[in-house]
Amino acid sequence: MKNIVLLGSTGSIGKSTLEVVRNNPDQLQVVSLTGGNNWQLLAEQAREFRPRFVAIAAEEHAGDLRLALKDLDVKVGAGSSAVLEAVMQPGADTTVAAIVGSAGLQPVMTAISAGHQICLANKETLVVGGSLVMQAVARSGLKLVPVDSEHSAIFQCLQGAVHTPPRRIIITASGGPFREWPVEKLAAVTVEQALKHPNWNMGGKITIDSATLMNKGLEVIEAHWLFAVDYDRIEVTVHPQSIIHSLVEFSDGSVVAQLGWPDMKLPIQYALSWPERWQPPVAALDLARVGSMTFSAPRFKDFPCLQLAYEAGKAGGIMPCVLNAANEVAVHAFMQKKTGFTGIPEIIAATVGAFSNCPAVSIEQLVAVDIEARQRAREFIGGA
Ligand code: NDP
Repeated sequence: MKNIVLLGSTGSIGKSTLEVVRNNPDQLQVVSLTGGNNWQLLAEQAREFRPRFVAIAAEEHAGDLRLALKDLDVKVGAGSSAVLEAVMQPGADTTVAAIVGSAGLQPVMTAISAGHQICLANKETLVVGGSLVMQAVARSGLKLVPVDSEHSAIFQCLQGAVHTPPRRIIITASGGPFREWPVEKLAAVTVEQALKHPNWNMGGKITIDSATLMNKGLEVIEAHWLFAVDYDRIEVTVHPQSIIHSLVEFSDGSVVAQLGWPDMKLPIQYALSWPERWQPPVAALDLARVGSMTFSAPRFKDFPCLQLAYEAGKAGGIMPCVLNAANEVAVHAFMQKKTGFTGIPEIIAATVGAFSNCPAVSIEQLVAVDIEARQRAREFIGGA
């Protein structure tokens, strides 16, 4: 039985994780749940899964949540310190990290210190603090198991490949809703159009990141840290059907891939069942129904976020943290209609250009850089 802390239970990954828990009651049990703002859904989840502790990050909803749960034997906390308290609940041994953005970094570091197995969806954690997170993971002797479908695919391809490190990693990308749009039309993209992902049903921020290709850039950085592979050996290929979730090439040229329908329940369940495999959470793959699979090179020039991410990743130090903070602010501004779609890479490039690089030495330093980069990005938006 795994005793789970579910960070971000009210989000898209959080809800799918609870579906996996619901389907595997003999293997999985929830110890604590955390949400950001959605206290109503958090209360419903607490009523069904009966955790010992629930935390709502937005303190203004603490009263409502407490009132909604007053008849249950569940402790309620509020604010970012309560999210950390959720991680530290006695008896918990596994943390599913599904908070969006750099807000997930400190809870993940706390979970590593608490000795939990980490099932990581929150890619921004590795983008911002990759070297420090991986050092902490190595010191703890724990395994960080990816939830992101591409990284789950790579992780699965590498099972049993201890003595044969990958020569190349090929990450697949759907290409997003504007894959075939002429570059001239991109400036006029609306929020509603960008939120319509062709294959995946996900939270708002990652859906916009998929449309700009920043999601793939963040995944390249995530893969660099998870699999210790240099950036020039990580490639992105556009595969609009999202059936092949990623591929690994070995030293003899053999390429191994993982396939499945685009449904996050499978990688979530694998992260929780690993090293075992349980009953399938989705319908069997039917290749005849898939029909054909196609591949093409990404349009680096027309979607500059991917190149910006490669550059920040290669630069290392604080640059991925700056890139991530600027992206979070730019995506938020786009969703609030304060900047256009093509303004997103412009804001990121301007913010990254305003910083001099230095080594990443501590989480406290990265938190300070994150705040400063957000401030800079907001100034660029204000001045635009
Ligand atoms: P959602 O936006 O759907 O959910 C995010 C979760 O984080 C919600 O529970 C939200 O709470 C909570 N949250 C937001 N801000 C804070 C904060 N400051 N402090 C504490 N909690 C907060 O995102 P997704 O589920 O789509 O994505 C989560 C992570 O997983 C992201 O890093 C994403 O890149 C990654 N991922 C997602 C995939 C997907 O299919 N969705 C696939 C692969 C990776 P509330 O809603 O209550 O405000």
